[in-house]
Amino acid sequence: MSNLDTAPVESTCPAVALGTSPAPVTLSPREVPLGGPRAMAVRRTLPHRDIRTIGAWCFVDDYGPTTPADPPMAVPPHPHCGLQTVTWLLSGSVAHRDSTGGAGTVRPGELNLMTSGWGITHSEYSAQGTPVRGVQMWVALPDQSRHVQPGFAHHDDLPRLNLATVDGPDLDAVVILGSFAGATSPARCYSPLVGVELTATGASEAVLALDPAFEYGILVLDDPVSVAGESLQPGDLRYLGWGADTVTLRTTGPATVLLLGGEPMAEDLLMWWNFVGRNHDDIVSARADWESGAARFGEVVGDPAERLRAPILPNATLRPRPGRRLPPPGGNSTT
Ligand code: MN
Repeated sequence: MSNLDTAPVESTCPAVALGTSPAPVTLSPREVPLGGPRAMAVRRTLPHRDIRTIGAWCFVDDYGPTTPADPPMAVPPHPHCGLQTVTWLLSGSVAHRDSTGGAGTVRPGELNLMTSGWGITHSEYSAQGTPVRGVQMWVALPDQSRHVQPGFAHHDDLPRLNLATVDGPDLDAVVILGSFAGATSPARCYSPLVGVELTATGASEAVLALDPAFEYGILVLDDPVSVAGESLQPGDLRYLGWGADTVTLRTTGPATVLLLGGEPMAEDLLMWWNFVGRNHDDIVSARADWESGAARFGEVVGDPAERLRAPILPNATLRPRPGRRLPPPGGNSTT
């Protein structure tokens, strides 16, 4: 889906300086003002004023549920660059089409993963009368991969695990990206990261194994949980920092959360609208290429809908704050 904010501002995501991890903090969602004909509640937790990225995860929008009476979700052709979009649903279905000819309908438990590389255009539509509830997330591509060929993959073959708990029924886990508890997602990512959906079917206490080299966040979906003793409400994203090898998740009943993690981002990012770049000029040229219809972004095959226009770019020139430069995280991680 698109960043539907009608007046987006450039958002700097400076490279994370390693050393002592930031203290855990709860990132409360903010409602994003949406323009256009749709009025869908969107709760954004990344980027957040306090925490800009979690690993390469740089954008988290939690949306819906819509009701059967609402118009379907309709996001006409719009561009992306410098990122992968990770579409994860809790209910409903969303049909995707893009400028590479990629197409696929995603349903709960499945992944639509679009790699924008240098430039891609896509559109997304939910079915009429079918409520939708989901999470739209972006993963920033590291510098060495941000100009890769665009592409799309639909995965309905993600690893599913039953995780033993300390107390209560097993947790159901789906490994969306990366590796967790000995299982590895087949989805391709370009930096060390992980995304897992964890579902408790009843009151439970579980100790989750973490990679101390990763920083993590836990996004709380529709039911309150506690993480490391901290009570959280639906919509909250609890940032955990790095250096821990376990975290305790408690639920008082059925609940679903997303565990997001990765090696702290070693590069400065600049995000605006649907683009992730490294500096203001990257953003200016991406916007100009989109608005001029340049071949860079192509056209969605088989979607005659009018394209979304880019918002006005604020005049101010933002630059990413200088951060500690580290070697880029290690290359492609496939499998
Ligand atoms: Mn999109």
